[in-house]
Formats: sequence, C-alpha cells, structure tokens
Amino acid sequence: MKYVLVSGGVISGIGKGICASSTGFLLKAAGHRVTSIKIDPYLNIDAGTFSPYEHGECYVLDDGGEVDLDLGNYERFLDITLTQDNNITTGKVYRSVIEKERKGDYLGKTVQVVPHVTNEIQAWIERVARMPVDESGLEPEVCVIELGGTMGDIESAPFAEAMNAFKLRVGSENFMLVHVSLVPVIATTGESKTKPTQHSVRELRSLGMFPDVIVCRSTVPLQQEVLAKVSQFCHVEEKSVLNLHDCKSVWEVPLLMEKQNMLKVLGERLNLPKCLKERALN
Ligand code: ADP
Repeated sequence: MKYVLVSGGVISGIGKGICASSTGFLLKAAGHRVTSIKIDPYLNIDAGTFSPYEHGECYVLDDGGEVDLDLGNYERFLDITLTQDNNITTGKVYRSVIEKERKGDYLGKTVQVVPHVTNEIQAWIERVARMPVDESGLEPEVCVIELGGTMGDIESAPFAEAMNAFKLRVGSENFMLVHVSLVPVIATTGESKTKPTQHSVRELRSLGMFPDVIVCRSTVPLQQEVLAKVSQFCHVEEKSVLNLHDCKSVWEVPLLMEKQNMLKVLGERLNLPKCLKERALN
C-alpha cells in the first residue's frame, strides 16, 4: 500500500481537497485502485452539528455518515463509495482511546497523546486504507490522505506526529508528502510572493516533516522563475514544485497537474511503474 499525504500551509481553504482529489484521479487514470481518507483535526465527532453558515452543508455518505464536503469531492473524482470511517476527526480518535481506557485495554498504563493517540491514528489509517471502495471489491493500492487545517496549528500537532511515525512504520518508499501552499500575487505591483510558502515549509520542517512535492496555489499562473525560487528556498526539486492557479472549473485541476508531470513525480517517488508510462493528455 502506498500513501500520499496532502497537507496545507498559510491559510485554510487553500484547495487541499481539490489537490488531493486530483492526485487520486491521476493515480486512478494510471490504472491504480485509489481510496482516500480525510483527517479533520477538530474535536467534533463529525460535521453533522456544524452550522451550514460557517462550513456549508455537510456531505452525507451512503452509510449515513455526516462528513466534510471534501469526502464528496473524493467520491465524485474517484468514483468510489466511502464510509464514515474514511473521515477521521480528533473527536473520533479521542472517543476511541477513552473507550479503550475505560475497558482497561491499556493495562494500567498512563494514557498519553504519544503513543496512545498517535498509535490510534496510525491503526485507523491502516485499517481504513485497506477497505475496498469500488465495485471490484479489491483492496486499494494507493491511499490519499488529506490533513485538514493548516500545518503548525495546535489541533493538527498529534496528526503530524502520527504521520511521522507512520512514515517510519510503512517505509519512506511507500509514503510521500504533498504540501499545498499559497503564493499571493500583489495587486498593485503584480509581484508573486514566495515568502508565505517558505515560512509554511519551515513550519512543516520544524514538525519533522519534509515535503516531496510543493503545490503553489495562486490566483493567476505563476512564472517558472517563481517556482524555481520556491524550489531553491524550500529544498524541493524544481520538477516537484507545481502551480495550481484558480481554474474556471475544478475538473480542470487534474489536467493542470498532469501537464506539470505530477504522475511522473508520483511514479518515481513511490516506485509505481504504471504512473511512468507515456500517455496522451486529452
Ligand atoms: P481545503 O481542502 O484546503 O479547505 P478545498 O479543496 O475545499 O480547500 O477548496 C476550497 C474552495 O476552492 C472550493 O470551493 C474549491 O472548489 C475551490 N478550489 C480549489 N482549488 C481550486 C482551483 N485550482 N481553481 C478553482 N477553484 C478551486
């Protein structure tokens, strides 16, 4: 099983969900069975009690699970059927750990964020990633995990810690990190600013996480030298720095990614030969 973690920097609502869905879409187009998990680092058990004014309507899954809208993107982009377990929240993780503690599962141990909460997160991901999500009934080959919120938030810290341990557990050849960040374009001068992205990657590194791909989100297409600067300052190869500008339709995003050779980057990093085959874009 291969895992692609998608994190976000600078601001929330930057397009991590669309980026994660599009990554999954490309992997599926290359011939892989793909599943996805959305991590929401809030304490609510699920999105069912959220105000629609704040978050929009929640998305309802076939099993009745009331979840984040991104799960809807995954189902539509990947043509799969997800369950409520594909949406991990801090609330669900803590509920499970506390129930185990009450049953005495931890055998008198002091229950802590590390390792009990972080182990719970890893076990949850490994279990859910293997659940069949399409008509083939077969185990997926790649799991795209989206970590909601912004890296550096207090809420996401246990998940960052869990993901570092998870990378060790599954092997770095089976795990990669795609970081989605903002490159603002200053209206008065038209200049693209890479500093917020540099800071967000520094934040990521301070958590022990190293991006394999940086996706720069921007309102307009960025010049190649801007991406080269991100590469230089964030120590990520230039071919692994992508630009996703605002598109008229989110269905254009997978094509925009593939024009920048995302499948090649995924294939080389995760050793997925199917991703490296020559194919025509249309
Ligand atoms: P996040 O997961 O980071 O909160 P989303 O993926 O939900 O962000 O995206 C936030 C909003 O921006 C959504 O309405 C989404 O459709 C839109 N969006 C994301 N990426 C793009 C893009 N490249 N072009 C146009 N709209 C986009």
